[in-house]
Amino acid sequence: MMNNRITSLFGIEVPIIQAGMIWASGWRLASAVSQAGGLGIIGAGSMYPAILKEHIEKYKASTSKPFAVNLPLLYPDIDAHIQTIVDLQVPIVFTSAGHPKTWTAPLQQHGIKVVHVVSSSKFALKAQDAGCDAVVAEGFEAGGHNGREETTTMVLIPAVRAAVQIPVIAAGGIGTGAQMAAAFCLGAEAVQVGSRFVATPEASSHLAFKQAIIAAKEGDTMLMMKELTPVRLLKNKFYEAVAAAEARGAGKEELAALLGRGRAKKGMYEGHMDEGELEIGQVSALIQEMKPAADIVKELWHDCQATLRQWANPGWASNTL
Ligand code: NDP
Repeated sequence: MMNNRITSLFGIEVPIIQAGMIWASGWRLASAVSQAGGLGIIGAGSMYPAILKEHIEKYKASTSKPFAVNLPLLYPDIDAHIQTIVDLQVPIVFTSAGHPKTWTAPLQQHGIKVVHVVSSSKFALKAQDAGCDAVVAEGFEAGGHNGREETTTMVLIPAVRAAVQIPVIAAGGIGTGAQMAAAFCLGAEAVQVGSRFVATPEASSHLAFKQAIIAAKEGDTMLMMKELTPVRLLKNKFYEAVAAAEARGAGKEELAALLGRGRAKKGMYEGHMDEGELEIGQVSALIQEMKPAADIVKELWHDCQATLRQWANPGWASNTL
């Protein structure tokens, strides 16, 4: 149990938020995380409106714990998702990849808490000006969509903390309790964890993708396609094609043609490990095993507290938990 601005805002027990991830975070994962005391998020980016509705309904049938929906603002059918969110009384929405001004107030008018994901202090200020209840500051290490400026979590969190008054949730490269403790030291009031929760039985991603995450080592992910939409992905045959195209100076159109449609689904959901787009964070290098989501929540919180205690006590230099 912990009490701070984020746990009170969401009505959760531990300051651990599971990231909304396309093709990974449906109702099962979100429900497992929320039932363990954190905040589960349904990732709406890869869901048609009827699918999102089904996931929210299944989530609600599984638990009465708080949850959120992640809505990438560049979603093609955004009005339909907004309607579903309002109709089904989703309590919290995490918006990303777009301007927070458009949807924050309309959602809040329905009593919905709105959090926006940013990759710089400049965007954090925009989120605050738009009236967001909190921001997720997501650093360079993060998987999937990312900022162009390559600001790491280590630099981004204190910068955003200094720039805004609303609570800051740290994201990007966080998958262990020690990293979580570090995020608190940098000024965060909660962490958002993505990659670690993909390597769980509850994530809807393909087993081959989960196994590739466990096998991944340092240097196996790269931030690509800055000309189009910057995205961190796992190296595979598709990555090689993108790297070759970028090396010869490919522009937006060529990259868009190379990416095509539905490549993320092909990789992360259907398990085409060569041709698919495999979005995952740098922290995959630290993920060693598949674990139920509830065990991850418990482990992170236990190790975070143990780390903070260790560094608060005399003899802190001994480096043993
Ligand atoms: P593509 O255009 O390549 O493909 C669209 C995919 O989304 C298809 O696989 C399609 O499924 C599915 N889909 C779900 N709802 C719709 C809809 N209303 N209209 C069309 N397609 C839909 O896009 P991506 O796969 O790259 O991205 C999809 C979404 O996810 C975008 O909104 C994007 O912003 C978001 N995204 C978010 C990321 C993040 O880090 N938060 C990372 C990457 C993407 P089907 O094949 O069954 O038709």
